[in-house]
Amino acid sequence: MMLDGLYQEIILDHYKHPHGRGLRDPFDGEAHHVNPTCGDEITMRVSSDLSEISYDGLGCSISQASASVLYELLQGTDVAEASGIHHAFVELMQGRGQIEPDEEVLGDGIAFAGVAKFPARVKCALLPWMAFKDAAARAGVDVGVSPEVKA
Ligand code: ZN
Repeated sequence: MMLDGLYQEIILDHYKHPHGRGLRDPFDGEAHHVNPTCGDEITMRVSSDLSEISYDGLGCSISQASASVLYELLQGTDVAEASGIHHAFVELMQGRGQIEPDEEVLGDGIAFAGVAKFPARVKCALLPWMAFKDAAARAGVDVGVSPEVKA
């Protein structure tokens, strides 16, 4: 897999220095997701007001960097903002590399634009986001405006 150098650097930096990693209390919803094709795992915890997001996981650089970026983007947002960012990231990942990402909305998430060209890795990038959606639902928060992920 060849990614643009700058994008690759951003992903590797989040992988090596993850933001907000480690499960914390309190939380209202938790979800554990696994991507069996790559061996990635993510556990996501969310408080009902999104003031607390925490996670832990193992797996490839893309899945773990994506969790770090998610934390950076969604921690402390409100439901409307989180839904918008969530939607934008899922849309980017399902765009097969044809969507131009908006850095204003996605921050370092734009680094995953190149990953969208590799269907096998899209699942890696989306894993934390799907775990977040589930954990939020269990906390009573609906960020469900995102399009469904195609298997
Ligand atoms: Zn992976």
